[in-house]
Amino acid sequence: MLKDAKRIVVKAGTSTLTYGTGKMNVRRMRRLAEVLSDLQNSGVQTAFVTSGAIGIGSVKLGFEERPCDTPGRQAAASVGQCELMFMYDKLFGEYDSVVGQLLITRSDIENGERRRNLINSFEKLFEYGVIPIINENDSVAVEEIVYGDNDNLSAHVAKLIKADALIILSDIDGLFTANPAEDENAVLIPVVECIDEEILAAAGPSCSSFGTGGMSTKISAAKLAVESGIDTVVMNGANPEDIYKLLDGGQVGTLFKSRGPKKGSF
Ligand code: GLU
Repeated sequence: MLKDAKRIVVKAGTSTLTYGTGKMNVRRMRRLAEVLSDLQNSGVQTAFVTSGAIGIGSVKLGFEERPCDTPGRQAAASVGQCELMFMYDKLFGEYDSVVGQLLITRSDIENGERRRNLINSFEKLFEYGVIPIINENDSVAVEEIVYGDNDNLSAHVAKLIKADALIILSDIDGLFTANPAEDENAVLIPVVECIDEEILAAAGPSCSSFGTGGMSTKISAAKLAVESGIDTVVMNGANPEDIYKLLDGGQVGTLFKSRGPKKGSF
């Protein structure tokens, strides 16, 4: 289904980008930078949604977990975002790719004029051959105005730039019939035609100490994307090279099939 994708959004969560200690998984980030740079070189326009700012900033500030208060998270994100972009600039640079940072708040997408400005910025970056790296602007956004999780943010970005596909990298192989950590009979669901009650129930809740989200936010992101005509895949981010297989038309993770023609955000 994703064989002809010419514009994609790839989202990586904190658990894909960091170790359990919260420190950066540099080897994983390097492999991801290599794959995304190569895709861009092959003519697939790629936008990358990164998480990890709050987690990585928290570690750098010596915290044992994410701060519970908003100003604490804002400060951690401010520190962590610098760290992330420093590393991405270096890693993507090794593959001769140019990256640009876009920090977005919900109002940038909801407000008509700001949304158009944002779209212009994305289009120009693509025209210049730049790989946009996106995160929520956690340092200025407060509770009432945040998406809060980058799964949903990535679906909004995919819609905004009329992407052909959204690829959500996770620490699990895809959507299972039940939580595979708790149920040995759980099996991977390769294709979801329709996100119904049964699928929502299979997602269940989950979270980690440095990231947010879990499968339920991935399902709500997939729902938004597929309803906008964008095929969405949730797959394991442990092997970023699997993205090649996916874009060669292979079966990887769980594919949520798009419904109807592509609709942008204008
Ligand atoms: N924007 C958050 C960060 O960079 C991540 C949100 C999420 O984990 O989905 O820390």
